[in-house]
Amino acid sequence: MVRALYPGTFDPIHNGHIDIAERASALFDEVIVAVYDAPPKKLLFATEERLTLAQAALAHLSNVRIITYVGLTISCAREQEVNVMVRGLRNVADFEYEQQIGWANNHLAPDIELCCLFCSRPYEYLSATILKEVASLGGDCIAWAPPHVLSALGDKFNRPELNRAAQLYLRHQDKLVHHD
Ligand code: ADP
Repeated sequence: MVRALYPGTFDPIHNGHIDIAERASALFDEVIVAVYDAPPKKLLFATEERLTLAQAALAHLSNVRIITYVGLTISCAREQEVNVMVRGLRNVADFEYEQQIGWANNHLAPDIELCCLFCSRPYEYLSATILKEVASLGGDCIAWAPPHVLSALGDKFNRPELNRAAQLYLRHQDKLVHHD
């Protein structure tokens, strides 16, 4: 049984993260998405909110569960008894960062393998930072995050147009399902 940990801040979870979680869920028996309980001042969403948003976004993946953690990621990996750590790579900057963290983690836990997945093309430039910036200005980000995340962003930034876009999207999806 190969169990993987996919850690991150997920502030908030977006389609790039979801893509990596979906692909990891096909590769490994179990995937634990671990939401880092970082100091709240730098983050838009509280840990519980990030957890809830991630749970809803990944509810379709039966072998994925979501937890929160504090402290060293590698300690969380040990507690959860995982064999593999999963991370997503968008570009050279991600690669260099992951290489350094991977080096430190390998020093702390040489038996836990690092598996970096290249992100899929549509999400190459997507980051939670860009998502929050565009959302804060009321821009169209329906292609970047699921509707419930857009609604949460709409609430945070007081941008009702985001809530409306999410509702429209859901209604459209509903129609497509009922026409099938
Ligand atoms: P962290 O703060 O640990 O970098 P993030 O929440 O930003 O956490 O990201 C969690 C993981 O998801 C990281 O491995 C990151 O490289 C990856 N990731 C972020 N954005 C994307 C994306 N657009 N496509 C694929 N993976 C991504």
